[in-house]
Amino acid sequence: MREERADFDFNNFESFERTQVEKKFRCPYCHEKISMVMDVSEIGRHLYIEDCEVCCRPIEISYSADRGRLFDFTARSI
Ligand SMILES: [Zn+2]
Repeated sequence: MREERADFDFNNFESFERTQVEKKFRCPYCHEKISMVMDVSEIGRHLYIEDCEVCCRPIEISYSADRGRLFDFTARSI
C-alpha cells in the first residue's frame, strides 16, 4: 500500500540542491497557470514584483530559500 504524504509538495521535488527552481502557480488576477524561475542560491526571505505572463498585471512574489529548496511560497495581487 502506498502512503500519501499531504505535507510533501511534489512540485518542489526537483528543486533539491539547485540554485534555481521553476515554480508553477496560479495568477491571483486571471487564475491562469503560470511558472516562474526562482533563485534559491541565496538563503533567506525573498520578495519581489513580477508581471503575470498572461495578463501582465503585477504579482507580489514572496518565498524563502535554503540550500536549493524553496518553501513558504506566496503569490498575491498588490
Ligand atoms: Zn494573470
